[in-house]
Parts: sequence; C-alpha cells; structure tokens
Amino acid sequence: MIPPARDLPEDLEVPLRTGRDWWYWTAGRPALDLVNTLRERWRRRVECLCGPEDLAEWLRRAGLVTGWVPVPPGAVEEARELREAIDTAASAVIAGTPVPAASVAVIGRWLDGAGPPVLVVDDGVPVLREHPGADPVHRALSAVALDAARMLGTAERDRIRVCAAPDCSARFHDGSPAGRRRWCSMAGCGNRAKVRSHRARRGTRTGG
Ligand SMILES: [Zn+2]
Repeated sequence: MIPPARDLPEDLEVPLRTGRDWWYWTAGRPALDLVNTLRERWRRRVECLCGPEDLAEWLRRAGLVTGWVPVPPGAVEEARELREAIDTAASAVIAGTPVPAASVAVIGRWLDGAGPPVLVVDDGVPVLREHPGADPVHRALSAVALDAARMLGTAERDRIRVCAAPDCSARFHDGSPAGRRRWCSMAGCGNRAKVRSHRARRGTRTGG
C-alpha cells in the first residue's frame, strides 16, 4: 500500500531547504503527484520542490529518470510552471469552469519538446532510442506533460479529484471502478474522517 502523506508540522520552518521528506505518491499518476509537491494549497502553500537536487531526486523517485541526472539551469522554475499549469487546468475541470488557454499552452509546449523516439541501427541490430537532443530532465518533464495531456484531454478528466478532507489539498486521479473515491488515501484522510464521524455519532448519543 502507498503510505499517506504526513501532515506538515505547525512549526515547520519555511521556505524548506528540501521538500523530499514531504513528498507523497498517492495521486495515481505523475502529473498530479507533481502538482502535490506544492503542499497546503489552501493555507501556507509550502514549496516542496526546492531546488535542482530536489527536482533530480523527485524525477528519480517518480521513475521518470534512472540514477542521478544533471539539472539544467532554470529547470526547477520550468517544472514549477508546468506544475501550476497542470493544477490550474485540473482545478478548472473540477470546478466546471473554462480551462484557461494559457495553462493548456504551457502543457502543449512541453508536448512539442517530447519528440518521437528514433530507431537506429547499433551493431547491425535495430534499437529504439529516446528522442535525441533533449536532456533527461526536460524529457522527463515532457513525460509528465504527456501524462497531464492524456488526463485533461480525454474523459479521464472527469476522474480528477481534490481530497474531501478540509485540511488536505491533495489532488488525485480516481481510478476506482465506481469513480467514488473521496480521499487522497484511505489510510490517511479517509481514516481520519471515519474516526471523526464515529466520534460525532457517539457524541450525539451520549450527549443527547
Ligand atoms: Zn487527503
């Protein structure tokens, strides 16, 4: 089971030097996992993608690069821009409001950069290689953008959710068969809500 997000402590010192202790992977797809690297969107908006090392490590843990990759200058800001474009579009979809063209354009630019794979001959054997030119970090971010495009640009968009807990801004993709998932994780927010409603029921009984 994927562990739930740990709550940020009240006395957390921000800005963080690294956000890696606060990453979580319950969104069901990389586009929304990336969105969730900005935490407490309803309150403190804590940046958890703090610098080049964070970006390289996040991409590695997301399985989008293997090993350690050099992060080109400006890539952190680009990753954040892509992240916020995905969130703006996803939030509009959830709210049922028009999706801003500017955020779609940002995601679209990354798709252009992805480029097709190439088939080359290596020692007499045909080998499929990733699109040459782009560095690994940009290629990985293009993969995130492609995931976002597949989600936003198809009926999958109806499965984008924000966790129902009032103190959680986690976005996730509801992959459940019935499409009724409410919590970012059952073990975290789902469980807390269950305990709360249980207490409320008991309180009504004893108090009334
Ligand atoms: Zn939650």
